[in-house]
Amino acid sequence: MSGVFDRWLGGQTSVAEAPLAVGLQVWLDEQGEVLRLSGPLRTLLAMPPQHARRVQDYLQHHSWLVLEGDPADWQGQPLDLDFRTVHGHALHTRGWLQRQAEGWLLQLFDIGDLLRAHDHEGQRLSLQRLAGDIGRAVRDCGEERLAQVTGEQLQRLVEYWQADSVRLMLLEAGVWRSHADSGDDWPWADDGQLRPWLEKYALRGELDASERYELQVLCGGLPVSLLPYRLGPDIQACLLCVASGAPPVHDPGERLLQALLDPLLARLRQRQLQRSDQHLDALQRQLGAGWWEWPLQGPLQLDPALAASYDLPREITVEQWLGRVHPADREAAQLALEQLREGRALSLSLRLHEHAPQISPRWLHWVGQMQGRQVRGFLLDISALKAQELQAGAARARLENLIASSPAVIYIQRYAEGALHSEFFSASLAPMLGWHSDSEQARQPGLAVHPDDRSLWLERTRTLLRDGQARCRYRLRDQSGGYHWVLDEARLLRDDLGQPVEVVGLWLDVSEATEAAERVRHSEERYRVLVEDSPAMICRYRPDLELLFGNRPLADHLECAREQLAGMNLGQWMSDAQRSAFQQRLATLTPEQPLSSAEICLQLPGRENAWWVWADRGLFDAQGRLQEIQAVGRDNTEVRRSQRQLLQGAKMATLGELATGLVHEINQPLNVMRMAVANTLKRLENGAADTDYLTDKLHRIEAQVERAARLVEHMRVYGRRSEPERQAFVAWDAVEGAAALLAEGLRGKGVALHIVAPESALTVLGHQDQLEQVLINLMINARDALLERQPQAPAIRVSQQRIEGRVCLRVEDNAGGIDPRLLGRIFEPFFTTKPAGVGTGLGLSVSHGIVEAMGGSLEVLNGPDGACFCILLPLYSAS
Ligand code: ADP
Repeated sequence: MSGVFDRWLGGQTSVAEAPLAVGLQVWLDEQGEVLRLSGPLRTLLAMPPQHARRVQDYLQHHSWLVLEGDPADWQGQPLDLDFRTVHGHALHTRGWLQRQAEGWLLQLFDIGDLLRAHDHEGQRLSLQRLAGDIGRAVRDCGEERLAQVTGEQLQRLVEYWQADSVRLMLLEAGVWRSHADSGDDWPWADDGQLRPWLEKYALRGELDASERYELQVLCGGLPVSLLPYRLGPDIQACLLCVASGAPPVHDPGERLLQALLDPLLARLRQRQLQRSDQHLDALQRQLGAGWWEWPLQGPLQLDPALAASYDLPREITVEQWLGRVHPADREAAQLALEQLREGRALSLSLRLHEHAPQISPRWLHWVGQMQGRQVRGFLLDISALKAQELQAGAARARLENLIASSPAVIYIQRYAEGALHSEFFSASLAPMLGWHSDSEQARQPGLAVHPDDRSLWLERTRTLLRDGQARCRYRLRDQSGGYHWVLDEARLLRDDLGQPVEVVGLWLDVSEATEAAERVRHSEERYRVLVEDSPAMICRYRPDLELLFGNRPLADHLECAREQLAGMNLGQWMSDAQRSAFQQRLATLTPEQPLSSAEICLQLPGRENAWWVWADRGLFDAQGRLQEIQAVGRDNTEVRRSQRQLLQGAKMATLGELATGLVHEINQPLNVMRMAVANTLKRLENGAADTDYLTDKLHRIEAQVERAARLVEHMRVYGRRSEPERQAFVAWDAVEGAAALLAEGLRGKGVALHIVAPESALTVLGHQDQLEQVLINLMINARDALLERQPQAPAIRVSQQRIEGRVCLRVEDNAGGIDPRLLGRIFEPFFTTKPAGVGTGLGLSVSHGIVEAMGGSLEVLNGPDGACFCILLPLYSAS
């Protein structure tokens, strides 16, 4: 081709008139404007805009520079011009300018092929260079950088191919895995999603259009190409390449891939080999295993690791080796070596001789056989196995010993054709039942079962065969004819197919326990009858007062059926105050002091008030928490009622005794009123009664009426029966009430009554009328002593004191006191020193009872002038 150019360049005039009918001819005028075009390439040119005349208008932009100035300037040099074509790409031409008679001829030839060949060579060289670089990088990098370098090389491929991303997939042990990618955050699918496509591709060497499309969707939506790497006929690796632009044209792809993968796979294989070598070594070390060799003549060769772990030289003579074997196994080892010489295989377990006696010898399994002209084999440490074997042997011996010495009889029955046949009995059979294991009873235990229990025995066998286990109790006759209660626990063992094989069971002699249980049952029955028939109320209830059990008398009192008792709440028959007092009392129970008793008051259905004497015993759990209470109760209502009547009687008697004084007391206001009325009438008759006088007299009369009414009212209240429930009241009110009833009578008898007003009002709990009665009793006793002894200025003094949370009401006289010999007896009922018909001997005893019921005490001592009685009562506070 270049020859053609030379010829044309050299002889421009000679052929000027006969231009070649090849290439492209452009005819120009002096100014370079195009006159016409000819030649076959003409048809390829893209037409310039309509009025354009210059040759530049046909050219691609960069070619304009070549044609600067006028045609005369372009002459004498080769011109490389790129024309625009109708196909869009450039038409590369080379030519020159020739002088014509008129104007110029631009003669041009297509040099596209020439350029392409040149390009191709350049690309081939750069491809070769890149492949070399990649291969070198992967081959030469350090082990720890291999992954990073691989990624970098993939990135180079991406740049070279102008792709978007690549991912390298390797077939490892039959599974496709991604190994590396170009590290550009491309959204690659998971290995699991990619795997099916790679498997298809590896199988057929291609994917069809729809498979390609689906893979493209999976890999981020851009076209994906697969570049295979083969080892022999099989695809071993594959590069997935996504590219948005045109696919890489210059490179057959596999070239670069090969440059990357040849060294990479070699290195990976090498790494894998190294690892499996290490694994093997580690495994051998753990197992204590290793090879040995013996060329029959000369020393034995040992695996270096093995030799090190047994502390042996790597080369050991037969004598040395036998010297290291435990004396007990030495002969066997020697014979085994002889055996090897005769060509027979060796397999022997032996111990190594340890010089220190406290070290337990190591067990080795020694295996070898002739291979060619020398023996090869391995040694394996089986110390752990031997130790287990020893342990298992010891455990078995212990178990056998246990079975033989067990108080229970352990037996085995063999299964055959739906029946069970005795096969084994432990040695305890003879001590328990006196049977021998080959006796008739042992062969057929069913015959020795108590006649009443035979159905149990038959049921046991049926249950055993059906459910695989059975547990029952029956009586077995022993050698001397007595019966033993036996607890039989048996289990059926089956083979792999589920077929019954044998029954393993044990008999436990439970005669004593069974009889004891029987005794307990009897005694429980007796106690049950006792509880049911008892006239006392007996029950169990929880700390929240819910009944767990109650007997018939309790049900009768509560007017319900016995079965209804459980679940009822005892508190429903108590007032709020009673319930809280009851529960406070329960709260004082402790495991050390589990007993408490009290008289409790209930409002029973249809009855006014019931008084029960109630004794509780708390039952506690291991932590000392109250779990339930057992209680026994007795109805005390009748006793209470008669006590109240007694009290009432005593009260009425006191009133009767006071009658004289009271009559006087009421007479007093009547006298005053009579005088006032008489005086008023007199004044009215005289006509001297003015309004002021009348008003004054009427006020006086009114005051006296008040006084009489108060007294009568007090007598009425005092004479009334007490309320059943205790109430809070001011203690001094009782003193004033008693004084109101007594004062006048005492004055009439010449006895002075000193009531010392207290500093504060103190509240107590109980019945005011009853406390009044106590005070009246004490004051009457004092009066009687004063009248009998007749001291100078007889007087009674009543005062109040507060002593540590209690109030003390003191009644003192100056009658000289009580004979010290009688002091201990005066509170006894019916004790009196007064003449018959005067004293009843009940005053102090009743008073004592009243004060105690209020939680207080009544005390007496002899003062310097006379007796001093002290009523001590606990102070009441609402909280
Ligand atoms: P009664 O008054 O009917 O004899 P009490 O039980 O009230 O019965 O008293 C018992 C006895 O205690 C009296 O008989 C008396 O001997 C003695 N006694 C009680 N109070 C006094 C007192 N203040 N001084 C001396 N003796 C007393």
